[in-house]
Parts: sequence; structure tokens; C-alpha cells
Amino acid sequence: MVKLLPLILSVSMASASADSCAGSVVDQPGLQCSYCGAPAGRAPSSLGDVAATACSLCGLAQHLERPRINEEARLIWLPEMSQAALNVLVRRIHSGLRGLGERLETDVRPSLAVGERTLLYHGQQALLVRGREAEVRLGTSDPAELADALLRLSGAAVARRDALLGGVRILPMGRLFEGSEDIYPAIVDSWRQTAGHPPGGTV
Ligand SMILES: [Zn+2]
Repeated sequence: MVKLLPLILSVSMASASADSCAGSVVDQPGLQCSYCGAPAGRAPSSLGDVAATACSLCGLAQHLERPRINEEARLIWLPEMSQAALNVLVRRIHSGLRGLGERLETDVRPSLAVGERTLLYHGQQALLVRGREAEVRLGTSDPAELADALLRLSGAAVARRDALLGGVRILPMGRLFEGSEDIYPAIVDSWRQTAGHPPGGTV
């Protein structure tokens, strides 16, 4: 069994000096995310300069400097679950919503309040509520503010950031921008195809 790498919230200095997140999208067929162990699937190239193969969710956690990060994720306090485990859970929720033909944004209610849709929606809301605890502890639930703080940290403090951040996680919000386009639905489709489901659809 492949040993997974630790996933720690971070900023990319290379991306922080660029003023756009526009780039290309790469498919990673047959590759496994080095952080959460799930199939890596499709990912924007702007998330691809991390040290190892990453799925979009684990890449996002290492790119808090992204220009629209506050739309793509929120900070939550969830010490009982690692960021990698949370990403696996979010992947399942979003794959389920996509399979039911629902929108993926965390703040959008499903079209029908029945069955699995309700479970998936309330599962996400239970995670989102933990943003209040992040606000109490950090003074914010904006990932951009954490990114600014990380960019100002000394080298020694950066190395200790996992201990400093404690139970802070990012909750992916069902959007991922490449330029002005939300490419997250296509990314979820790539995960679902790996699992044997057709794109979009209602299976
Ligand atoms: Zn991953």
C-alpha cells in the first residue's frame, strides 16, 4: 500500500506572484493523489506545481493564494478529521450530488428535498457550520486572510504551521475557477468516470 504524504494548508510563492489563475487543465489518468489516495482525475495546471501528484481538492489546500479562494473554499475548525480525510468526504458528497444532477455549490439547495439529496446537503451544511468556530479561533473564515498570514510567516514558523493551525481545515465550496470559468463540474465528472459513471447524468 502506498504511503500518503501529509497534507498541510499552504500557499505557493510562485503562484502568489502571478496575478491570474488562468492556465490549462490536465488529466491524470491512472494516477493516485499522493495526499488523499483517491484517483487524481482532472486538475487545473495552476494546482499542479506541488511536490507530488494531487487531486484538485488536495491541490487547493496547498494554494490558498488563489485569487478567488474565498469563493472556492472556507476555513472551518474540524480537529477530529484530517484535511485529506475531509477531502475524501467532500469528494463523495460532490460526486453524489453530481450523479443526482444537482449543482455542486455548497450554498445551493438541491432541487428536491428528498432522499439522498437531503443527506448530502445537510452533510455539507454541518461542515460549513464549523466555519463559526474558525472565526472564533482565528478571527476569520476567509482562506485569503490565512494565505496573507502564511505569506508573512518566518521560515521557522512556516515549518511549524501544521501545529500552529491545529484543527483548521479548508472546506471546498463546490467551485474551482480556471480564469473566469468554474471547471469544478468537469473535475467531479473525471472522478465519477474513474468510478465507472458517465459524465453529469443521474446515476
Ligand atoms: Zn487528494
